[in-house]
Amino acid sequence: MSDDTPDKTANDLSNLTVGGHRSDPEFFERVNSLSGQNVSLCYQCGECTAGCPTAFAMDFKPNQVSRLVQLGMAEEALSCNSIWICVGCETCATRCPKNVDLCAIMDALRQMASKRHVKSPETDVQSFHEVFLSSIRKSGRMHEAGLIAALKLKTGKLTKDIPLGLALLKKGRLNPLPDPVKDKAAVQAIFGEAQTPGEDNGRQ
Ligand code: SF4
Ligand code: SF4
Repeated sequence: MSDDTPDKTANDLSNLTVGGHRSDPEFFERVNSLSGQNVSLCYQCGECTAGCPTAFAMDFKPNQVSRLVQLGMAEEALSCNSIWICVGCETCATRCPKNVDLCAIMDALRQMASKRHVKSPETDVQSFHEVFLSSIRKSGRMHEAGLIAALKLKTGKLTKDIPLGLALLKKGRLNPLPDPVKDKAAVQAIFGEAQTPGEDNGRQ
């Protein structure tokens, strides 16, 4: 078997329980498929965690998130704060000696968590993620004023930062009207391509 060939037997977890939780082998396959990665290759060296600028704030460190996926621990992987604390800087992917793109795995987990309505410990970050994607999908570029309004409705924090918003409007830094791209169909096509049939896509 070549170094890059997935070791199927290593992930036959159908009867495994960890800490009283049953493993979900299908979850492992879905994360691999959605992220385009082979999480089996991770051998837990910890290089990703050593370089991650936000690992200090994560409940599961990046290498531990990888391990959760390997073990098929869907509940833990989708409900940890790590996937929302990750800022997508790609440092982990750059450092990984096995070329595992943990950043893509984090993105896949965010999509799956949103799709499955898993309650995030980082509620505001998750709300922003979903509202941001929705804004891009609708107009092809971010409409700040619309994004702020949608975020406030979603989080219920209606009055927070109103003076700041008014000051930005006054200085012309917030466009009250959307300025969509000309070819919105192309944007829709990109979102369509990013959705894999039968997989969690989480696109809002
Ligand atoms: S650097 Fe790569 S191989 Fe090492 S723990 Fe992180 S994901 Fe796994
Ligand atoms: S992409 Fe996310 S997990 Fe990877 S190093 Fe950056 S913040 Fe950490």
